[in-house]
Amino acid sequence: MAETCHRRSACRLCAGIDLQEVLSLEPTPPANAFVPKELVGKDQAVFPLDIFFCQSCGHVQLLDVVDPKILFENYVYVSGTSPVFVKHFEDYANDVLNTYQPPKGAMVVDIGSNDGTLLSFFKKAGQTVLGIDPAKGISQDATERGIETWCDFFTPELSAKINQEHAPAHVITANNVFAHADDLTSIARGIADLLAPGGVFVFEVSYLVDVFKDVLFDTIYHEHMAYHAVGPLQRFFPQVGLELFAAERVPSHGGSLRGFVQLAGGTHTGDGSVDRLLEIERRLKLDDSTTLKEFGARIDRLGETFTGVLRELVAAGNTIAAYGAPAKCTTLLHHFGIAPGVIEFIVDDSPLKQGLYSPGLHIPVVASDVLLERMPDVLIILAWNFADVIMEKNAEFRDKGGKFLIPVPKVRLCP
Ligand SMILES: [Zn+2]
Repeated sequence: MAETCHRRSACRLCAGIDLQEVLSLEPTPPANAFVPKELVGKDQAVFPLDIFFCQSCGHVQLLDVVDPKILFENYVYVSGTSPVFVKHFEDYANDVLNTYQPPKGAMVVDIGSNDGTLLSFFKKAGQTVLGIDPAKGISQDATERGIETWCDFFTPELSAKINQEHAPAHVITANNVFAHADDLTSIARGIADLLAPGGVFVFEVSYLVDVFKDVLFDTIYHEHMAYHAVGPLQRFFPQVGLELFAAERVPSHGGSLRGFVQLAGGTHTGDGSVDRLLEIERRLKLDDSTTLKEFGARIDRLGETFTGVLRELVAAGNTIAAYGAPAKCTTLLHHFGIAPGVIEFIVDDSPLKQGLYSPGLHIPVVASDVLLERMPDVLIILAWNFADVIMEKNAEFRDKGGKFLIPVPKVRLCP
């Protein structure tokens, strides 16, 4: 396993080496390492999930880096499968187009473009689009559906190739990439080289403020190496000739940060939003490692409540299933120590996951029609960020007496 995971010795944002461990979660297999039937029951390699705080710049991060080839080449997350995300991306594209008004037809590049959902809305508005994504199947499909997508990791070399074969980009987007990549300096350099004068780089990442405040600890998994806050990012971008000039909070993934970046000294002026978020981070003392150490105790309390409720339900003879097999369910099920066999099956709407088995625990993932056929007593909503949508969609399950158990951000049993 030595070749598949290594531990960094320096901070991902500032290269500082004064790194303090603030939280240690149960080791897990990669969160998206769903396995086929023939591997059920066979041990899967697990990797550490330890969170470190950089004493120099305040960046919160994993230092154990699982080989990105293992994490991303057979990635099974497809954004277009979730109607909530499709709408999110449509609004996102429209916001960027309305606010920054790139010239008609100008290049829009999406790094980590997944199935091309976001780019499809830029294309509809008349922009030239290019996706970059290392997942083979997903990028091929996107190209076939008319969103040109290069199957690759974004680097300064790739950025030069885009400049050569296309043109500098007036809009560059990257959603979750800034949390999902080990070498952020290389990506940021590539962005600085590719951005046209007056252009804007927009990114979304889970926001440390929300992860911390709402105990969204299950968003911690190996793909997700960085837990960003405005403070450390504001100090990071100038190292590569960029500047963060605006930032806002958006609801994706239980709470995310959308940042707006331009070439240093560019024409876009700040609106005070960066300072407002910095103030929130200061108030929560997220620049202090002690605060982050307390986070572990809050996760433990949430875990005790959740497993207590689950234990009582099982003891009373209830059958248990789950809804949604997002990456974060791997962390939650492992860290809360849910024993194999407690959850009979997981319903997931993505055909790419159906027929596979969950990482580590090997719980079968099935299509939604199985739910009413088998009618478990309780459905744990592992995709808790879509809890309302899932409960509404499964009203028939509830009408027949099924209950929903939501684990995060607060444990709730809904009759
Ligand atoms: Zn640092």
